Amino acid sequence: MSPRVNEFSWSFSRQATFQSCLKRYYFSYYAAWGGWSATAPARAREIYLLKRLATRQQWAGQHAHDALAALLQRPAADAAEAESIAQQQIEQMRQEFRQSRAKAYHRDPARIPGLFEHEYNLEIPAEEWQAVVERVAQAVRQFATSELWQELQQLPREAMVAVEQRAHFLLDGLKVLAVPDLVVRHEGRVTIYDWKTGSADLAEHRLQLGIYVLLALDRWTSAPSDIQAVAYHPILNQREVFSYTADDVENLRDFIRDSADEMLFPVEDPMTNRLSADAEFDCTTDDNVCKTCPFLRVCPKWAT
Ligand code: SF4
Repeated sequence: MSPRVNEFSWSFSRQATFQSCLKRYYFSYYAAWGGWSATAPARAREIYLLKRLATRQQWAGQHAHDALAALLQRPAADAAEAESIAQQQIEQMRQEFRQSRAKAYHRDPARIPGLFEHEYNLEIPAEEWQAVVERVAQAVRQFATSELWQELQQLPREAMVAVEQRAHFLLDGLKVLAVPDLVVRHEGRVTIYDWKTGSADLAEHRLQLGIYVLLALDRWTSAPSDIQAVAYHPILNQREVFSYTADDVENLRDFIRDSADEMLFPVEDPMTNRLSADAEFDCTTDDNVCKTCPFLRVCPKWAT
C-alpha cells in the first residue's frame, strides 16, 4: 500500500486555526502528520497526541452532537427514549473521563480520547466536570421537547438526507470539507442544521453555515433560494435562520479561494502539500489564544 499523502483540503476549522495562530496551524496540519503510527518519529507522535486532545467544552460539544445524532436516527423517540440516549452518552463520558484521567490515550491517541485538562494536570473542581456532563444531558432533553424536534418528527424518513455525514465538494479542483449536523430535503427545499452548544450568539455562525450551503448547491439543488441554514442551540432552544443570495454564494466561494491561496503560500508544491524549506509559522501574540492550545508544551513561545 502506498503511504498516505498529506493532501491539502480546505475546511472552515482549518482556516479558523490558520487565522488564530500560524504555529498552531503548522503543528495541527503538518508537524502532527503521520504521528498516529508507532514507527513515526517521537516528535510527530507527541504532536499528534497533543493534536487529538479536546478541552472539556469541546469534548462535551462532541458528545452532545453524538447524542443528537443518535436521537435523529430514531425519529419516533419519545421523552423516555431520549432520556435513555442521554444516559448512555453520560455513561460513555464517564468511561472516557476515567480513561483520560489515567492517560490511557498515551497508548493509543487515535482511538482513546484524551482531555486537555488531564494532559496539562489542570485542577478542575468535580462540580465543574459534573456541570459539563450535565450540559450534554440537558441538550438532549431540551431538544426532545422542542418545537424543532416535533417539526423533524413530522417529516418522512427519507427527508433526512444526511446526519453528521463527512462530505466534501470541489471548488476549482480544491477539495472543501464540510460536516453539517443534519440536512433535510423536503418539498423542493433544503434545510441545513448545525447544533451549537457554546455561545448564545448564533448570528456569528453565518459564514460557517454558508460553507454548508455551498455543499448543498453541489449535492442537492442548484438554487440558493431553495436553501436555508439553521444554527440551533438545543440548551437555549434558540435558532437563527440564514439565507443566501446568489451574490452571497459567489462571495463565499471567493472567500474560500482567497483563504486557500493564503494557506498555500508556504507550500512548495500544492500537489504534495510539501512545505518550502524556508516556510515560517509565527506564534500568535495573543496569549488568550494560547490558554486552551494543546501544543503549549511543544510551542517555542512557552519554552523555558
Ligand atoms: S501555544 Fe500559543 S503560540 Fe503556541 S501554538 Fe499554541 S496558540 Fe500558537
